[in-house]
Amino acid sequence: MNITLERLFTTPALKTANWHSGGGRSVIRFEREDALGIISQLEANCPIGCYMLAVRIANCPISEAKLKVSITGTLIQRGFTEDKAKALAIVLLAEHVGTTKCPKCRGTGERISRRYGTIRLCNDCGGSGQMQFTTKRLARRFANELGRKYPHAKFLRNCYPHYQRLGNELLDHLSKAQSFARTLLNELNWE
Ligand SMILES: [Zn+2]
Repeated sequence: MNITLERLFTTPALKTANWHSGGGRSVIRFEREDALGIISQLEANCPIGCYMLAVRIANCPISEAKLKVSITGTLIQRGFTEDKAKALAIVLLAEHVGTTKCPKCRGTGERISRRYGTIRLCNDCGGSGQMQFTTKRLARRFANELGRKYPHAKFLRNCYPHYQRLGNELLDHLSKAQSFARTLLNELNWE
């Protein structure tokens, strides 16, 4: 019995569960209720990591809203004004739970020129296919969300240390939730 985290978080949205497993002798179904039961245990034990998984895997808007509230609250506790906390929370979410696929090449790492019939490396992501979260881009995004100018140097000094600290904390929450979810799934022990 091997249920992936993807399966866990996409099952609750299914109208009818139609996933079967088993070595031929018995057919085991992993139903919506099974998934919801595990997710609620996960939410009780590692809420932030649970919401991150729900957004990453199932694009869950409720989890995203909860994350935004939680991150904003943490930043306010750490001395940010509400408008800056909200703006930085959005930037944090974009890097840590949003899609990180490069929008210019759609994750392929290559740009095709129709005019010249050539293929070259995407210079937006350096060919990696992944968005590059440089401090300049983060600062620009932050200023956009804030709705006013905010210089890069000021962002580096006032925001970036908090950005990094909270970003690492979020990744910690995520990995804890991942391993807890796997433990719960393994405990299902249907044989
Ligand atoms: Zn690219």
